[in-house]
Amino acid sequence: MSTDEAGRLFHFTRLPRPVVDRAGGVYLWDKSGKRYIDGSSGAVNVNIGHGNRAVIDAMKRQMDRVSFAYTIHFQNEPANELADQLASRLPRGMDRIYFVSGGSEAVEAAIKLARQWAVATAQPTRWKIIGRMPSYHGITIGALEPTGDDVLTRVFEPMSRPMPLIPAPTVHRDHDDLSLEERGLHYADMLEAKILQEGADSVLAFIMEPIGGAATAALVPPDSYFPRIREICDRHGILLIHDEVMTGVGRTGKFLGGDHWTCRPDIVVLSKGLSSGYAPLGAIAASEAIVGPVVAMGGFLHGHTYGGNPVSCAAGVAVLQEVDRLGLIANAATMGEVLKDELAALSRRFPFVGDIRGKGLLVGAEIYADPEARRPLPREAVANVRLIDLAFERGLIIYSRRVRGGPESDNFMVCPPLIVTRAEIGEIIATLGDTLEAFAREFNL
Ligand code: PLP
Repeated sequence: MSTDEAGRLFHFTRLPRPVVDRAGGVYLWDKSGKRYIDGSSGAVNVNIGHGNRAVIDAMKRQMDRVSFAYTIHFQNEPANELADQLASRLPRGMDRIYFVSGGSEAVEAAIKLARQWAVATAQPTRWKIIGRMPSYHGITIGALEPTGDDVLTRVFEPMSRPMPLIPAPTVHRDHDDLSLEERGLHYADMLEAKILQEGADSVLAFIMEPIGGAATAALVPPDSYFPRIREICDRHGILLIHDEVMTGVGRTGKFLGGDHWTCRPDIVVLSKGLSSGYAPLGAIAASEAIVGPVVAMGGFLHGHTYGGNPVSCAAGVAVLQEVDRLGLIANAATMGEVLKDELAALSRRFPFVGDIRGKGLLVGAEIYADPEARRPLPREAVANVRLIDLAFERGLIIYSRRVRGGPESDNFMVCPPLIVTRAEIGEIIATLGDTLEAFAREFNL
């Protein structure tokens, strides 16, 4: 079978992309020998970079011992070790950990855990999960329910229940006279209005990314947002779920994105950086107050064949060791500032790039046809796809998306592996500059 045929079978459609050959550090090479610098860490998951020897060796050692043992029959050391390691890094008391194979699965697990907690604590009327618009929480039917993206959700509406949504705090787009912190409170208060509109007794949880990822390109809420959200959830007995699939494990310069603020969630969802792409892995974490009643009621009605897989968990343990050994969380914080400064300099050269934001190495920006009026390019221009392609031609991988839901715009993120050096950031920025020059010519900007 030719590679093209294999590609067609695998993805249903053949993407016009080269076949990857190998990878190391922040680079990937295709079969023709062309080199790409990974300015998106794959799907913003390869946090420790490609080809990490320690992780590969740890996985090989585990495979030599045992690759699979069903969690119904056996505990395994890597899963126990990873749970302990995570508990020591998560907010105090969040020491009940449950492993799955990816982000969407983990979001589903969080939703189901919340629901079982409500039933176990005699609150069976609570089932609604309030989400934000725009947002992304995964691609399975359940994870799409609180996801704010009409294009992804509409077709499936007869089968999946669209959940109530409130606007994400897109404060950079607001032109009103309120201060940043007042705007943070204004967006947070929309949660309370929605809860009251839905009926507090029917609302189970609120799910959000502490720092918005795919849907909002590194959207950082004002400091006032988090305490008010926590206060509102507490007032109405609603669980707060932090989807840290993209922001977790050091990406934003702290272990969790939520660690930039003091208020704590009830359930944390992790994936991506947890195994850094070396194996499929996701997790949820919660406290005994949530998990205890569920266990007492007969146990969590959940479980996947590959949950707690020993090889995936061995990868996770080794990834956490590498994050510590290489000081990657501190590097993400430092290099993130360098990257933001460099992007700001680029936006002076290309004024159609604006609203640069982010924390650590989750950095994003908007693209406007008219930056003054924050007017986007027309949807038909598919500018985000062109930006990705123009960069790819030049050997740079970036992440770009059309915002769907709320005011539209094209945005992009630059989020290299957390091992990135100053010189590599220089290379990313130089290639991005060439890319934006070509983009400006093509779109008459
Ligand atoms: N949640 C967030 C915040 C994500 O960014 C993603 C993926 O991009 C997911 C959930 C879904 O993860 P997965 O693609 O592993 O199913």
